[in-house]
Amino acid sequence: MQKQKIFICGISTECCSYSTLIQDENDFEILSGNKLLKYIDFNYSKYKNITFISSKFYRSLPGGPVDKKFFLKTIQNIKNDLKKNTSIDGILFLMHGAMYVKGINDPEGFFIEKIRSKVSKNCKISLSYDLHGQMTDTIIKNINYFAAYKTAPHIDVKQTYFRAIKMLINGILKNKKNHIVWEKIPVLVSGEMSSTIVEPCKKIYKNLNKFNKLKGINDCNLLIGYVWADAKRATASAIVNCNDVTVGKKICKKIALSYWNNRFKLVYDMQSYKLNKIFNVINNKKFTILADSGDNPTAGGVGSRIDVLEHVFKNNIENTLFAGIFNEEIFRKLKNKKNKIVIKDTISKKKISLAIDKYYLKNDNAILSSNNNTIIFTKYRKPFHYLSDFKELNINLKKYKILVVKSGYLSPELKKLKADNFMILTDGFVTQDFKRIKNFFREKPIYPFQKNFRFNINI
Ligand SMILES: [Zn+2]
Repeated sequence: MQKQKIFICGISTECCSYSTLIQDENDFEILSGNKLLKYIDFNYSKYKNITFISSKFYRSLPGGPVDKKFFLKTIQNIKNDLKKNTSIDGILFLMHGAMYVKGINDPEGFFIEKIRSKVSKNCKISLSYDLHGQMTDTIIKNINYFAAYKTAPHIDVKQTYFRAIKMLINGILKNKKNHIVWEKIPVLVSGEMSSTIVEPCKKIYKNLNKFNKLKGINDCNLLIGYVWADAKRATASAIVNCNDVTVGKKICKKIALSYWNNRFKLVYDMQSYKLNKIFNVINNKKFTILADSGDNPTAGGVGSRIDVLEHVFKNNIENTLFAGIFNEEIFRKLKNKKNKIVIKDTISKKKISLAIDKYYLKNDNAILSSNNNTIIFTKYRKPFHYLSDFKELNINLKKYKILVVKSGYLSPELKKLKADNFMILTDGFVTQDFKRIKNFFREKPIYPFQKNFRFNINI
């Protein structure tokens, strides 16, 4: 018997349309060959009748818009890989779903459509997504199976890949029927307001698993969407894989309504304060973590802003660790080893002069001490979400009273420290102050940008 073939490819990033940093090939890592298969970590050997063909998976840290030329090149490169293979039975796409490419309204839809056009109509397509992704009719039209993360912070990435692959395998080997139905939900909030470890999303997402057990339902999903892109397609959505369309539609509407009905309860998972208030609130005797949310690189912020740094130095606050601030220029300046250094942020146009008490360089980071504070400057945009990020730089968190990270909700590892923690509502491309977000292309009405309107949906 001839083996069936599954082709694996994708592109994954989250793009803040307000950011001035354009992402290109320097920002993306390419996983291919065995590296990609190993990364997905699926139990391939269980399926002896299937050959898994690993093409290219482009991924990057969230940032600004993706350069159009580069984006088109990624599609061409994958098409070239596809040409080397005949009679593909299935494609697994690994995508985030919140990409922004100037001039292309629905980049994920465009990407999938272009690649799908090169295979036979019988080839089945499965899509794995981040729950902060956006759905469109073009995507639905071009896929047969869909699976999105059900946790934020995301701790079910691999499980989501497995769901998407298993549906695809069942479709190919057993010809199992699947239809996808979806509903737009006119709600668009930040990830920080829709964490699945707290209510109301905790329960809403738990219910997805309950719905999955119903006859006629294969796999239920809810997308929160991505708020920092001024795009027409940006909304939340419910997406249901089903073999009974009537039941599927009913459950899809139920999921959509459960999210809509809870929209007023979508609030930050952390206590949040403006920068000028936060240092009056914290308990000086306890270790405290502050999340500089407006400049969070994992949401698409640049990570170079010095608003909090400036505030700390102006107010003579000590024992603070900044992890980290993206600033390439500082590495050149430090070579001259002056006892003072001027830090400039081209995004906020702020600058600050710091006395250098001491500094050392490690793994593309400059760790600088000044006035009893420590600042980690990074050569590349980088979040500090793991305890190993600090360990690698020989930094002992216990030495500090305050840790400032560029983040929204805290990463699971930082949360485990059980420190007091607050979100600072700072300025930046991914500000949590939605009133300041430009809104030209997004559909209206959409909560919370508009508040008094009805959601016309009937079950
Ligand atoms: Zn996400």
